[in-house]
Amino acid sequence: MQCSKCRHEAVIFQRYSGLHLCERHFLASVEARTKRTIRQHGWIRSGDTIGIALSGGKDSAALMHFFATTFGDRRDIEFLAITIDEGIGGYRDVSQPKEIARRYDIPWTTASFAGEYATTIDEIVSRRGDRQSCSWCGVLRRRLLNRVAREAGCTKVAFGFTLDDEAQSVLMNVLRGDTDRVTMSPKPAEGMVPRIRPFEAVPEREVALYSHLTVGLLPDRGCPYSHNALRGDVRRLLDDYSWLHPSTKYALLGLRDDLAGCGEGTTMTTTICSECGEPTFGPCRSCAILREVNRG
Ligand code: SF4
Repeated sequence: MQCSKCRHEAVIFQRYSGLHLCERHFLASVEARTKRTIRQHGWIRSGDTIGIALSGGKDSAALMHFFATTFGDRRDIEFLAITIDEGIGGYRDVSQPKEIARRYDIPWTTASFAGEYATTIDEIVSRRGDRQSCSWCGVLRRRLLNRVAREAGCTKVAFGFTLDDEAQSVLMNVLRGDTDRVTMSPKPAEGMVPRIRPFEAVPEREVALYSHLTVGLLPDRGCPYSHNALRGDVRRLLDDYSWLHPSTKYALLGLRDDLAGCGEGTTMTTTICSECGEPTFGPCRSCAILREVNRG
């Protein structure tokens, strides 16, 4: 199949746009959408130090490539790659993100659950089972990443979340009836480093292809606990529906933006947890999780 914009061979067909794209036009299309997203939200400004949440998987590696090639010449913007080691044997291997950061000449740092919480996800699962492993892991990872980024002087933390991740989050909040999260609008909060998601308008399969064409093939070790994520069910539901209605994920992203700031969630403010000293919305979930998993 030929590229819809030139005569070269197409590497992808975008069902939602009806376009076949060759490698050059595909890379340009991903980068243009990502730059537009950053511009629309005013996410990157002169003087920023951007922490990149770098797991070493394809999404965060693609983000690393995008930042290094798009902003690499800017002396007024700095980057720091941050890898969180949750302690999941056979899955998390910090040597992979370290090597990716070295390749793009971006400073890299790491922090572990073992060092921060004196436990690991593997230990938690062996004591408490794996039913809630993803929800515990996500809360503890966000807290540690935020602390590392804040203490390193980062002004933003960038995630490689894709359109699929964002659309799944919106649908999950709707399915849970979580009005606060559906209508919440991000706003500055004491101790919280603002989060940015430059790939939020790019579908996951396109970020994967972008990563493959730019960074190269990366070992894909699946997390042994991923089958427990509610997200997996929502992903299947959304992928099936989107097959028939290809613009559904963009529609959910639009819904999120339209509803942001419309409800009481906008009045939610952070407080500093008296136990751990970290910022939290309402009761500190990290401390509650640590109490629960360390219970005798
Ligand atoms: Fe953590 Fe779940 Fe992701 Fe594994 S799949 S790294 S347990 S959030």
